[in-house]
Amino acid sequence: MGECARLEYVRSLIEESCVRSGRDPEEVTLLGASKTVKPEIIRRFFECGLKTFGENRVQELLEKYDRLKGLNIDWHFIGSLQTNKVKYLIDRVSLIHSLDRKSLADEIQKRAQRAGIVQDVLIEVNVGDEESKAGVKPEELRELFEYSLNLPNLKVLGLMTIPPYLPDPEEVRPFFAKLRKLKNRLEEEFGVNLKHLSMGMSHDFTVAIEEGATIVRVGTLLFGERT
Ligand SMILES: *Cc1c(COP(=O)(O)O)cnc(C)c1O
Repeated sequence: MGECARLEYVRSLIEESCVRSGRDPEEVTLLGASKTVKPEIIRRFFECGLKTFGENRVQELLEKYDRLKGLNIDWHFIGSLQTNKVKYLIDRVSLIHSLDRKSLADEIQKRAQRAGIVQDVLIEVNVGDEESKAGVKPEELRELFEYSLNLPNLKVLGLMTIPPYLPDPEEVRPFFAKLRKLKNRLEEEFGVNLKHLSMGMSHDFTVAIEEGATIVRVGTLLFGERT
């Protein structure tokens, strides 16, 4: 399959999931998780109509950002983020998916203020409570959210998660549902509207959409196995 055919294939799966769950496909953004994917390939997917790409290493993002400057790519950052690297992301990415601690929120606030912008972010939640995973624990989410509300140059648009890897995507469903419930709870408690749930990867994004995902982060199924 060529790039455009693969993109159309993934889009058709997104549409089917939306139909199954009575959702509007316009509500779901397909993000190409493009780590290790060469700039020329990213360019081809862009020309096929994929506009949003996410990188999870700052250095790799910067290289691709420069190489593909002429394209109107909507870059997101989806990996764990060291505080001292925040300054490179401001003005380059429209959304940081991985806010997971107050010190990082403070740094984003500082850098965004200096740049005169409001940086959109998602709070990453470790829904499976796994030792190895980034993200706040569910029981610490409320505090980080409340803290972030008081930072004027940072705007929390929703939540992101990387659930435990389970071969059967149906087994992942409860973790997606949990993230949705956590979002609903914040909305009720703080009287806010949170637009995004960033959840679902190649093997489980159809289930994530059924559970309310608004951004699915797909790598392998679009770009092939990473080597
Ligand atoms: C690599 C990556 C993905 C995509 O994973 P695939 O299984 O290849 O679709 C999604 N989210 C994050 C944070 C990633 O690092």
